[in-house]
Amino acid sequence: MSASDTKERIIIFDTTLRDGEQSPGASLSIAEKLEIAQQLAVLGVDIIEAGFPVSSPTQFEATRQVAEQVTGPTIAGLARANKEDIEAAARAVEPAKKKRIHTFIATSPIHMEHKLHKTSEEVLKMAVEAVAFAKTFTDDVEFSPEDACRSEMPFLIEILTACIEAGATTLNIPDTVGYILPYEYGLMIRQLSSDVPGIDKCIISTHCHNDLGMAVANSLAGVRNGARQVECAVNGMGERAGNAALEEIVMAIHTRPNFLIEEDYTKVLTTNINTKQIHRTSQLVSQLTGFVIQPNKAIVGANAFAHEAGVHVDGILKEKSTYEIMTPETIGLSGSRMVLGRHTGRHGFTDRCEHLGFKLTENELERAYQRFLEVADKKKEVFDEDIAAIINDEIRIVEQIYKLEYLHVVSGTGTLPTASVKIKIKGEIKQAAACGDGPVDAAYEAIRVATGLSPKLESYSIRAVTGGKEALGEATVKIKDDGRIFIGRGVSTDIIEASAKAYIDAINRMVSTKKGQQPELKAGL
Ligand SMILES: [Zn+2]
Repeated sequence: MSASDTKERIIIFDTTLRDGEQSPGASLSIAEKLEIAQQLAVLGVDIIEAGFPVSSPTQFEATRQVAEQVTGPTIAGLARANKEDIEAAARAVEPAKKKRIHTFIATSPIHMEHKLHKTSEEVLKMAVEAVAFAKTFTDDVEFSPEDACRSEMPFLIEILTACIEAGATTLNIPDTVGYILPYEYGLMIRQLSSDVPGIDKCIISTHCHNDLGMAVANSLAGVRNGARQVECAVNGMGERAGNAALEEIVMAIHTRPNFLIEEDYTKVLTTNINTKQIHRTSQLVSQLTGFVIQPNKAIVGANAFAHEAGVHVDGILKEKSTYEIMTPETIGLSGSRMVLGRHTGRHGFTDRCEHLGFKLTENELERAYQRFLEVADKKKEVFDEDIAAIINDEIRIVEQIYKLEYLHVVSGTGTLPTASVKIKIKGEIKQAAACGDGPVDAAYEAIRVATGLSPKLESYSIRAVTGGKEALGEATVKIKDDGRIFIGRGVSTDIIEASAKAYIDAINRMVSTKKGQQPELKAGL
């Protein structure tokens, strides 16, 4: 970048809490959404799409609380092109200092005919009325023609023109089904930016799905051809194969700022993102959703900065840039790791929590500190990852209807694995013992007997939070009940205990989701 370069900013629109939360099994509690939203504000996203308020009372409340409590970013609520949806979105985002209503309707022949049962004239009229109605609540109105990439270009131009006249300020071009290729998407954005009257006064946005693995490439092709807002989600979460990964978009712009503007290398692109918060944000989203990050995931995977090949390692030791296009420090992985131990005082621990970005109440801090001391007793060195795991485990956000009081497991070669548990249920202690195929199986069977519940175990995984034989183990389980999936997590230096806690956590989530409650309506955008 030279002094003569002019900067053009790309608006980062984060949809982790809306599209990302639509990933099967990723439902978050209101408190968890708030925690993620606070971190997104620290990360520096421009817009947080907090939810689809009309879809359920919980979605409404979550969006409303984000609008009330999170400052900095614009808070957006999603709405289909009808009055009820728009009113719900408007009421939910109303407390925010900067608010946006994002309304959408499908414009592809296949969606208009088979899903909406409407003609293109009717769709156009609904879109215009929706934008005009949204405009009565806020100036900041975004319109999305759903399934834009399979829509006919003349109709797309017509509906976008009409929506601009009705007051839309951002026009989003979603590749709802993840079908388009980068070259085509770039051409499409370029044609719209030249052929839609008035579009030069609006922001063109991308919203690309990853069904063919093109979400990030398509979004950047859009940027190269004039889009100035990118919709994306942390860790690439989203419907099916997911949405464009926020961290990949941001680091591509950060690493190649000169090369994303067509034929003009004097301009550089930039974002408002504090890249040093990327790693932490990614970890938080992974922990709260239970979606484990694949090790080879770009930017945030555990191996993203691990060089194994001897010739590479040799090169890096001589000169970092031989094989490293970004430094781990840029995304907040500190080169020198901070280590705490049992002699770390309350003050040092509090400092570290603040440095890691956790905002804890006095009470939460005290609980986390006590738990830290227990862990530090067993494990000599406590790393940042351990602290994050402890806090996320200890500051449980779901109500603990069932609480593990005691667990004893006997297993070994030649013995039948047996477990006994005590579980506190509303002040009352229930005991049970059971045997199983292995120690975890025995513990789970004992929990089922004690609670009288038997949700189907869909998946189980355990990982070490850091290296070493004393590492904290983090168990993640998915259980299924009534067709719905619930994720639970548990952390301990004892992996059987971590597994039992994860199972009970999932059960608590299942029980606290009121029985008979209808599954939320999912927006197809
Ligand atoms: Zn989407």
